[in-house]
Amino acid sequence: MPSEEESAEGAEDGRMSHSIELASSGRAKCRGCGVAIGKGELRFGERLENPFANGEMTVWFHLDCAAFKRPESFLETLAGREEALEDRERLESEARLGLEHRRMPRVNGAERATSGRAKCRSCHGVIAKGAWRIPLVFWEEGRFAPSGFIHAGCARAYLDTTDVMSRVRRFSPGLSEGELEELSGELEGMASDASS
Ligand SMILES: [Zn+2]
Ligand SMILES: [Zn+2]
Repeated sequence: MPSEEESAEGAEDGRMSHSIELASSGRAKCRGCGVAIGKGELRFGERLENPFANGEMTVWFHLDCAAFKRPESFLETLAGREEALEDRERLESEARLGLEHRRMPRVNGAERATSGRAKCRSCHGVIAKGAWRIPLVFWEEGRFAPSGFIHAGCARAYLDTTDVMSRVRRFSPGLSEGELEELSGELEGMASDASS
């Protein structure tokens, strides 16, 4: 079983090994949400083949963002960790949700459609301007690329679950409690906007 020191220093000996460690500066941005990871905060480092050069690179995530968006490598790393971790159970169960429902890591918050042009990736219908939609992102070459939307009401069909509110709070932190309530109604199919 590798010690924590070894896995944190994995870069040195060329092994692929992810890590959970304290951020030594506040400069790295999280690949999951784009916000800088505070100095002294725990962060998840995922080791990847560098798609643009020989060798490997590390990409950094807040622990929550890692649990939501990189569940497989995050769970693997948690399993090898013996030190106590605050919130471990919650993080594990969010990550497991992303393994059980393979499209969940694509969920990137929620918003009202700013135009009436985008089509839903689930039902292929137009998403009306002002309707609640879930933006999706796909992981490729070490980053997330925007990849369209689904109707909030199509979450069950597309994701196979509607248990997305903790992800929405994380990736759309500007939503009010009222908006979140409205959104959860739509997720459960109590939409006012079923006509489009
Ligand atoms: Zn983040
Ligand atoms: Zn739809």
